[in-house]
Amino acid sequence: MTMGLKPVGARVSRRSALAMLGGAALGVTAGLTAARPADASGLPRVAVVGGGMSGVMTAWLLDGHCSVTLLESLPELGGHARSVAWNGHKIDIGAQFFGPRTHPGYWRLLNDVLRVPVVPTPMGITVTQQGISQPVFVSPAPNRMFPLQDPAYAAPLLAMGLFTQAARDLEASGNWTKTIQQFVDELAVGPEMKERLLYPLCATLAGASIAQTMPLSARATVAFVSRSRTLMDDLLTAPFDYYNAVAGLSDVVDHMTAQFSTVTTRLGAAGKVTKLARRGAEWGVWAADADQGGAPSHTVDHVVLALPPEPAAGLVQSIGGDAWRDLAEIYRNFPYFTARVTLHTGPATYMAAGKRNWSAYNTMLQDGKYSEGTMWLGDCREFNVFKSWTTNRALPPSAEIISDATFRHPLLTPGFIANQATLQAWRQANSATNMWFAGTHTVDIDSQESALVSAVRVARELAPGSARLAQL
Ligand SMILES: Cc1cc2nc3c(=O)[nH]c(=O)nc-3n(C[C@H](O)[C@H](O)[C@H](O)COP(=O)(O)OP(=O)(O)OC[C@H]3O[C@@H](n4cnc5c(N)ncnc54)[C@H](O)[C@@H]3O)c2cc1C
Repeated sequence: MTMGLKPVGARVSRRSALAMLGGAALGVTAGLTAARPADASGLPRVAVVGGGMSGVMTAWLLDGHCSVTLLESLPELGGHARSVAWNGHKIDIGAQFFGPRTHPGYWRLLNDVLRVPVVPTPMGITVTQQGISQPVFVSPAPNRMFPLQDPAYAAPLLAMGLFTQAARDLEASGNWTKTIQQFVDELAVGPEMKERLLYPLCATLAGASIAQTMPLSARATVAFVSRSRTLMDDLLTAPFDYYNAVAGLSDVVDHMTAQFSTVTTRLGAAGKVTKLARRGAEWGVWAADADQGGAPSHTVDHVVLALPPEPAAGLVQSIGGDAWRDLAEIYRNFPYFTARVTLHTGPATYMAAGKRNWSAYNTMLQDGKYSEGTMWLGDCREFNVFKSWTTNRALPPSAEIISDATFRHPLLTPGFIANQATLQAWRQANSATNMWFAGTHTVDIDSQESALVSAVRVARELAPGSARLAQL
């Protein structure tokens, strides 16, 4: 790989010279580069591109230590953490659930640092098949003992137990390469339970079709099961210990932005980054509302790309040069698909017959090909709203649709996970460019925890003295 960095003129500052020669090769760390004052405020200038949870967290961690411009192309911050107002409530149509075991850093952030009000949302599970009234599986709970007494649920309970234990073993093994197909096929469970219970459940966890789910990384796909408290820990309590932000995840964003002191936020056309150009040791950043052939909207020392791989690929490709083409190629190797989510009221087409069979987390197998989830918030929150994945549903959800959204969602294949290391290797080889990567795709699985970990990783380099960093 070559960098294609060009001197900007005869008078080259020591900083420019170091950057152009490659700070890493000279033993200059990014942290030292960041410590050098670079604007009138005496702080290094940083553009954070993308105002989803990763970008907001990065800006919040750098706040006070860097002069940050946070750029978001939509009219509001949050990205896939999007809360919809309904009847006096804020309901999350994108990311929503988190817990102390699955999201340890995020849990500390919300509870100990930001003090965002949270509410327990324990998740029972129902698995059904469209057109068949008897559910395949209903999880037991203190107020729902019948699955333990009904012989029809003996085989599915055993299958779920084996599945959960194997998921934990897989998590402990650290193996990202085993696929869902391999993982489920290896279980000592009969074919009927695999077809009607385990493959559908995995597809629901992935948000994808059953065919798309088979080649996914099993460890990644079942992480929300294996890392949570589960049936294996306590059969009689609702199995999965999750929580919600009372006022939606937009409240987490609001808590962070309220503390911004050296962060300037740009939204919409002023926040949509269309072009980046390396100008000596600096970066020029153009927004959509700027003259694309004129002066940059912002000139900064560091760029943090906190936007998803697809738009990131186009942006870095346009910088020009071999290294940037390589980087664009790495970004293109993260596979994504389109998923649709609908918030609606009942009566719910997608629920099992009989309300006693309804759970907070409901999976419905349709045509043997698709198995999408419905979160019944009435089971764990005070409002009777359903949140359904509706990418491939044959039937519309129900009478009143509150909101509908499409998302580009990652397909967490073993290749996706391996590509995270390739992206980091690119950064290390090209550290002198002061280009940084945040975003949930850069680490582990697609979750709020990954968004935070990715932000922490950048902040450790750019603002190692951050008190907020020390709190996490
Ligand atoms: C339906 C759904 C449900 C989910 N449920 C959960 C859950 O329950 N728990 C959990 O932990 N996780 C969940 N997730 C995953 C979680 O939402 C993500 O991991 C996380 O929110 C992603 O944050 P991000 O900042 O990395 O990316 P994003 O949220 O995608 O943010 C990237 C931002 O970059 C912006 N952008 C793009 N191009 C440009 C540009 N050129 N210039 C400026 N800005 C740009 C985008 O508009 C976007 O706001 C869910 C995701 C979805 C889609």
